[in-house]
Amino acid sequence: MARELKEVQGIIFKRQKYKEADLLAKIMTKENGIITLIVRGALKPKSKLGAATLNFSYGNYVIYTSGHGLSNLRTYKEVRQFDGLYNNLTKNAYASFILDLIDHAFLEYQNLGKYYTLALYAIKKINAGVDPEMITQIVQMQLLAAYGVEPQLKQCVICGKSQGIFDYSIKRGGILCSDHFRVENSRMHLKPKQTAVLRTIGLLPIERLGSIKVSDDTKKATRKAIDRIYRDTIDLNLKTKKFLDELKMFN
Ligand SMILES: [Zn+2]
Repeated sequence: MARELKEVQGIIFKRQKYKEADLLAKIMTKENGIITLIVRGALKPKSKLGAATLNFSYGNYVIYTSGHGLSNLRTYKEVRQFDGLYNNLTKNAYASFILDLIDHAFLEYQNLGKYYTLALYAIKKINAGVDPEMITQIVQMQLLAAYGVEPQLKQCVICGKSQGIFDYSIKRGGILCSDHFRVENSRMHLKPKQTAVLRTIGLLPIERLGSIKVSDDTKKATRKAIDRIYRDTIDLNLKTKKFLDELKMFN
Protein backbone atom coordinates (compact mmCIF):
# COMPACT_ATOMS: atom_id res chain seq x y z
CA MET A 1 0.00 0.00 0.00
CA ALA A 2 1.23 3.48 -0.86
CA ARG A 3 1.71 6.04 1.84
CA GLU A 4 -1.21 8.36 2.35
CA LEU A 5 -2.56 11.01 4.67
CA LYS A 6 -5.38 9.76 6.80
CA GLU A 7 -7.52 11.21 9.57
CA VAL A 8 -8.08 8.79 12.44
CA GLN A 9 -10.07 9.09 15.64
CA GLY A 10 -8.58 7.53 18.73
CA ILE A 11 -7.09 7.46 22.21
CA ILE A 12 -3.37 7.85 22.93
CA PHE A 13 -2.30 5.30 25.50
CA LYS A 14 1.45 4.65 25.51
CA ARG A 15 4.45 6.89 25.02
CA GLN A 16 8.16 6.28 24.87
CA LYS A 17 11.16 8.37 23.90
CA TYR A 18 12.39 7.65 20.38
CA LYS A 19 15.21 9.59 18.72
CA GLU A 20 16.45 12.90 20.12
CA ALA A 21 13.31 14.91 20.90
CA ASP A 22 11.00 12.50 19.06
CA LEU A 23 8.47 10.28 20.70
CA LEU A 24 6.68 7.04 19.87
CA ALA A 25 3.03 7.16 20.89
CA LYS A 26 0.49 4.39 20.53
CA ILE A 27 -3.01 5.26 19.49
CA MET A 28 -6.08 3.03 19.62
CA THR A 29 -8.25 4.06 16.68
CA LYS A 30 -11.82 3.50 15.66
CA GLU A 31 -11.25 2.15 12.18
CA ASN A 32 -7.55 1.46 11.78
CA GLY A 33 -6.72 -0.56 14.86
CA ILE A 34 -3.73 0.19 17.06
CA ILE A 35 -1.03 2.31 15.46
CA THR A 36 2.41 3.37 16.67
CA LEU A 37 3.06 6.98 15.73
CA ILE A 38 6.32 8.84 15.42
CA VAL A 39 5.76 12.27 16.92
CA ARG A 40 8.54 14.54 15.71
CA GLY A 41 9.88 17.05 18.21
CA ALA A 42 7.29 16.05 20.79
CA LEU A 43 9.74 16.33 23.67
CA LYS A 44 10.77 19.89 22.84
CA PRO A 45 9.28 22.47 25.21
CA LYS A 46 6.09 24.03 23.83
CA SER A 47 5.64 21.28 21.24
CA LYS A 48 1.99 21.24 20.22
CA LEU A 49 2.22 17.70 18.93
CA GLY A 50 3.71 16.68 22.27
CA ALA A 51 0.81 18.20 24.17
CA ALA A 52 -1.72 16.53 21.88
CA THR A 53 -0.18 13.10 22.49
CA LEU A 54 -0.14 12.98 26.29
CA ASN A 55 -1.54 9.73 27.64
CA PHE A 56 -5.33 9.57 27.44
CA SER A 57 -5.61 12.31 24.85
CA TYR A 58 -8.61 11.66 22.66
CA GLY A 59 -9.49 13.15 19.32
CA ASN A 60 -8.82 13.27 15.60
CA TYR A 61 -5.27 12.92 14.37
CA VAL A 62 -3.95 13.32 10.83
CA ILE A 63 -1.32 10.69 10.13
CA TYR A 64 0.91 9.73 7.24
CA THR A 65 0.71 5.96 6.97
CA SER A 66 1.32 2.96 4.77
CA GLY A 67 -0.92 0.71 6.84
CA HIS A 68 1.93 -1.15 8.51
CA GLY A 69 4.95 -0.39 10.67
CA LEU A 70 5.39 3.09 12.11
CA SER A 71 3.19 5.94 10.95
CA ASN A 72 3.90 9.67 11.26
CA LEU A 73 1.74 12.11 13.15
CA ARG A 74 1.29 15.24 11.03
CA THR A 75 -1.29 17.28 12.88
CA TYR A 76 -4.43 16.95 14.95
CA LYS A 77 -7.97 18.33 15.28
CA GLU A 78 -10.21 18.65 18.32
CA VAL A 79 -8.07 16.82 20.83
CA ARG A 80 -9.20 16.70 24.46
CA GLN A 81 -7.80 15.08 27.59
CA PHE A 82 -9.46 12.78 30.01
CA ASP A 83 -8.28 14.91 32.93
CA GLY A 84 -9.74 12.60 35.56
CA LEU A 85 -7.38 9.87 34.39
CA TYR A 86 -4.32 12.01 33.93
CA ASN A 87 -4.44 13.43 37.45
CA ASN A 88 -5.45 10.37 39.47
CA LEU A 89 -2.97 7.55 39.99
CA THR A 90 -5.55 4.83 40.65
CA LYS A 91 -7.81 5.71 37.73
CA ASN A 92 -4.73 6.09 35.56
CA ALA A 93 -3.52 2.60 36.52
CA TYR A 94 -6.87 0.99 35.75
CA ALA A 95 -7.22 2.77 32.42
CA SER A 96 -3.65 1.91 31.44
CA PHE A 97 -4.25 -1.75 32.22
CA ILE A 98 -7.48 -1.87 30.20
CA LEU A 99 -5.86 -0.35 27.12
CA ASP A 100 -2.76 -2.53 27.53
CA LEU A 101 -4.98 -5.61 27.69
CA ILE A 102 -6.79 -4.63 24.48
CA ASP A 103 -3.45 -3.81 22.86
CA HIS A 104 -2.22 -7.36 23.48
CA ALA A 105 -5.33 -9.00 22.02
CA PHE A 106 -4.85 -7.46 18.57
CA LEU A 107 -2.21 -7.09 15.88
CA GLU A 108 -1.18 -3.59 14.79
CA TYR A 109 -3.66 -2.06 12.33
CA GLN A 110 -6.15 -4.87 12.97
CA ASN A 111 -9.70 -3.50 13.24
CA LEU A 112 -10.86 -3.62 16.85
CA GLY A 113 -14.56 -3.72 16.00
CA LYS A 114 -16.74 -3.44 19.10
CA TYR A 115 -13.69 -3.47 21.36
CA TYR A 116 -12.87 0.10 20.39
CA THR A 117 -16.32 1.14 21.62
CA LEU A 118 -15.78 -0.92 24.76
CA ALA A 119 -12.42 0.79 25.39
CA LEU A 120 -13.86 4.26 24.87
CA TYR A 121 -16.89 3.62 27.11
CA ALA A 122 -14.66 2.15 29.81
CA ILE A 123 -12.26 5.11 29.72
CA LYS A 124 -15.12 7.63 29.78
CA LYS A 125 -16.78 5.91 32.73
CA ILE A 126 -13.58 5.68 34.77
CA ASN A 127 -12.81 9.31 33.93
CA ALA A 128 -16.27 10.26 35.16
CA GLY A 129 -15.77 8.53 38.51
CA VAL A 130 -17.55 5.17 38.04
CA ASP A 131 -15.94 2.34 40.05
CA PRO A 132 -12.85 1.45 37.97
CA GLU A 133 -12.53 -2.04 39.47
CA MET A 134 -15.97 -3.08 38.23
CA ILE A 135 -15.42 -1.50 34.81
CA THR A 136 -12.12 -3.36 34.52
CA GLN A 137 -13.68 -6.69 35.45
CA ILE A 138 -16.37 -6.18 32.80
CA VAL A 139 -13.77 -5.37 30.14
CA GLN A 140 -11.72 -8.41 31.13
CA MET A 141 -14.66 -10.81 30.91
CA GLN A 142 -15.70 -9.40 27.53
CA LEU A 143 -12.16 -9.39 26.16
CA LEU A 144 -11.71 -13.14 26.57
CA ALA A 145 -13.48 -13.55 23.22
CA ALA A 146 -10.92 -11.27 21.55
CA TYR A 147 -8.19 -13.55 22.89
CA GLY A 148 -9.95 -16.51 21.26
CA VAL A 149 -11.17 -18.02 24.53
CA GLU A 150 -14.75 -16.79 24.68
CA PRO A 151 -16.40 -18.46 27.69
CA GLN A 152 -19.82 -20.07 27.51
CA LEU A 153 -21.80 -17.90 29.94
CA LYS A 154 -25.32 -18.36 28.60
CA GLN A 155 -25.84 -21.99 29.49
CA CYS A 156 -24.31 -25.00 31.22
CA VAL A 157 -21.38 -26.28 29.11
CA ILE A 158 -22.56 -29.85 29.67
CA CYS A 159 -26.36 -29.89 29.42
CA GLY A 160 -27.31 -26.46 28.10
CA LYS A 161 -29.44 -25.48 31.08
CA SER A 162 -29.64 -21.70 31.33
CA GLN A 163 -31.35 -21.20 34.68
CA GLY A 164 -30.48 -22.39 38.15
CA ILE A 165 -27.35 -22.45 40.26
CA PHE A 166 -24.00 -22.30 38.49
CA ASP A 167 -20.28 -22.59 39.06
CA TYR A 168 -17.45 -21.81 36.61
CA SER A 169 -15.02 -24.29 35.10
CA ILE A 170 -11.81 -22.95 33.50
CA LYS A 171 -11.07 -26.32 31.92
CA ARG A 172 -14.54 -26.49 30.34
CA GLY A 173 -14.46 -22.79 29.43
CA GLY A 174 -17.75 -21.74 30.92
CA ILE A 175 -20.50 -22.21 33.43
CA LEU A 176 -21.63 -25.49 34.89
CA CYS A 177 -25.08 -26.15 36.39
CA SER A 178 -25.51 -27.72 39.82
CA ASP A 179 -26.55 -31.03 38.24
CA HIS A 180 -22.90 -31.57 37.33
CA PHE A 181 -21.13 -30.22 40.39
CA ARG A 182 -20.29 -33.74 41.52
CA VAL A 183 -19.03 -35.12 38.21
CA GLU A 184 -16.91 -32.13 37.17
CA ASN A 185 -13.96 -31.66 39.50
CA SER A 186 -12.41 -28.75 37.58
CA ARG A 187 -14.98 -26.26 38.86
CA MET A 188 -13.80 -23.16 40.72
CA HIS A 189 -16.12 -23.51 43.73
CA LEU A 190 -17.47 -20.01 43.38
CA LYS A 191 -20.59 -18.98 45.25
CA PRO A 192 -23.68 -18.93 42.99
CA LYS A 193 -23.85 -15.14 43.41
CA GLN A 194 -20.23 -14.79 42.20
CA THR A 195 -20.85 -16.93 39.11
CA ALA A 196 -23.97 -14.87 38.46
CA VAL A 197 -21.87 -11.69 38.46
CA LEU A 198 -19.35 -13.21 36.02
CA ARG A 199 -22.22 -14.16 33.71
CA THR A 200 -23.86 -10.76 33.92
CA ILE A 201 -20.71 -8.75 33.27
CA GLY A 202 -19.52 -11.07 30.51
CA LEU A 203 -22.78 -10.71 28.61
CA LEU A 204 -23.51 -7.07 29.45
CA PRO A 205 -24.33 -4.77 26.52
CA ILE A 206 -21.66 -2.05 26.31
CA GLU A 207 -24.20 0.76 26.83
CA ARG A 208 -24.94 -0.63 30.28
CA LEU A 209 -21.33 -0.40 31.40
CA GLY A 210 -21.24 1.29 34.79
CA SER A 211 -24.74 0.24 35.83
CA ILE A 212 -23.55 -2.83 37.74
CA LYS A 213 -23.28 -2.64 41.50
CA VAL A 214 -21.99 -5.53 43.61
CA SER A 215 -20.82 -5.83 47.21
CA ASP A 216 -17.13 -5.46 48.05
CA ASP A 217 -16.87 -9.13 49.08
CA THR A 218 -18.33 -10.36 45.81
CA LYS A 219 -16.15 -7.97 43.86
CA LYS A 220 -13.04 -9.31 45.58
CA ALA A 221 -14.08 -12.89 44.82
CA THR A 222 -14.81 -12.18 41.14
CA ARG A 223 -11.46 -10.32 40.90
CA LYS A 224 -9.71 -13.46 42.13
CA ALA A 225 -11.71 -15.64 39.75
CA ILE A 226 -10.96 -13.42 36.73
CA ASP A 227 -7.26 -13.32 37.61
CA ARG A 228 -7.26 -17.12 37.70
CA ILE A 229 -9.15 -17.42 34.40
CA TYR A 230 -6.60 -15.12 32.76
CA ARG A 231 -3.62 -16.85 34.32
CA ASP A 232 -4.80 -20.30 33.29
CA THR A 233 -5.99 -19.45 29.77
CA ILE A 234 -3.88 -16.52 28.48
CA ASP A 235 -0.98 -15.91 30.88
CA LEU A 236 0.06 -12.40 29.87
CA ASN A 237 2.19 -11.06 32.70
CA LEU A 238 1.51 -7.40 31.95
CA LYS A 239 3.47 -4.72 33.81
CA THR A 240 0.34 -2.57 33.97
CA LYS A 241 -1.44 -5.39 35.85
CA LYS A 242 1.44 -5.87 38.24
CA PHE A 243 1.49 -2.14 38.97
CA LEU A 244 -2.27 -2.13 39.57
CA ASP A 245 -2.01 -5.05 41.99
CA GLU A 246 0.81 -3.35 43.88
CA LEU A 247 -1.17 -0.12 44.04
CA LYS A 248 -4.12 -1.95 45.58
CA MET A 249 -1.94 -3.28 48.39
CA PHE A 250 -1.34 0.27 49.58
CA ASN A 251 -4.99 1.33 49.39
ZN1 LIG B 1 -25.82 -28.84 33.31
